[in-house]
Amino acid sequence: MAGRHFLFVPGPTNVPDRVLRAMLVPMEDHRSPKFPELTLPLFQDLKKIFKTTDGQIFLFPSSGTGAWESAFTNTLSPGDKVLASRFGQFTHLWIDMAQRLGFDVQVLEEEWGTGVKPEKIEEILRADKDHKIKAVTACHNETATGVSSDIGAVRKAIDAAGHPALLFVDTVSSLVSLDFRQDQWRVDLAISGSQKGLMLPAGLSVLSASPKAIAASKTAKSKRCYFDFDDMIKANATGYFPYTPPLPLLYGLREALKIINEEGLENIFERHHRLAGGVRAAVKAWGLQPCAKDPKWYSDTVTAIVVPPAFNAAEVISTAYRRYNLSLGAGLSQVAGKVFRIGHLGDLNELMLLGAIAGAEMAMADVGIPVQLGSGVAAAQAHYRAAPASAERAA
Ligand code: PLP
Repeated sequence: MAGRHFLFVPGPTNVPDRVLRAMLVPMEDHRSPKFPELTLPLFQDLKKIFKTTDGQIFLFPSSGTGAWESAFTNTLSPGDKVLASRFGQFTHLWIDMAQRLGFDVQVLEEEWGTGVKPEKIEEILRADKDHKIKAVTACHNETATGVSSDIGAVRKAIDAAGHPALLFVDTVSSLVSLDFRQDQWRVDLAISGSQKGLMLPAGLSVLSASPKAIAASKTAKSKRCYFDFDDMIKANATGYFPYTPPLPLLYGLREALKIINEEGLENIFERHHRLAGGVRAAVKAWGLQPCAKDPKWYSDTVTAIVVPPAFNAAEVISTAYRRYNLSLGAGLSQVAGKVFRIGHLGDLNELMLLGAIAGAEMAMADVGIPVQLGSGVAAAQAHYRAAPASAERAA
């Protein structure tokens, strides 16, 4: 199909041309004396992304799922109790992994379209007088439903209960897009991947572990090998890896971090908020609802849009793909066929997003959903004109 493909799934996201070019490198010796010049600054720069000074950064050649596994197996022992909330496909998969790795998971079932409920976590932790619960997991942004949760409030709940559990946070679809503060919220394991806010292909899992998590890794009994913290820490100290690292991704990461630094993290968060507002305005103009049940759950990186009950969201997605060269995110598991998702994170701007909104609008009309053509686009345009970027307001 002529013209550019419109990639609007919530990851992998569009890779900036600068990053693509930076990855086009000949292979080199990853044991050369020069190699650490590439790697050592990456660890330092990634700390700024997680807003941590004493976090230990890990870069594993895997997708984000590998960082989940690494976090669990390095800090917990078989049979350890984990408190986890389930409210979407990714929180479900995270719980499934914890169970398959042999942990005893207490699941808080939450309605899909809502998120982590700190008050429930506090109540359970208060009742856990013997401190049997070793870890609390919280997903900052549930990508399947477009729901963000308040991680600062989870930290307050753990503190209010006076409980020593480790706090694990999934930041796969929030890092570099939503404000995340590892040190302030005392997050012990912040887990992410390369293919969303970091604007890279999938293939690098990115993890930041607090000193408390590193201390836990010294006594944790779960078996691990490829994802072992110790091996990685020893090799990384001098800028090397315990096995062959994915070179082009590391070069791409260096360029992505430069781009992030040029725009500034806070400006990036503001841009994501502004762009998301346009999508939400479009959804309202279509007379539809987001899957997120209440504005407090709205995600600035992905919106899951509920189609009217008589329609199949999968048809909207396939029509958008076939007719308009537009990839929208599928509804997963419980919401399959009920929602389609527009990813609005990473390297994008107003006009790119207006293209996706226009395509979604046409695809919905094509399958018979009664939306007024132009209504969503007009609402998003009005939103963007009313809320220009702060850099532009200052000019
Ligand atoms: N957690 C969340 C919130 C996600 O959105 C995803 C993937 O989209 C994952 C975890 C799993 O990451 P990966 O697909 O990189 O393994």
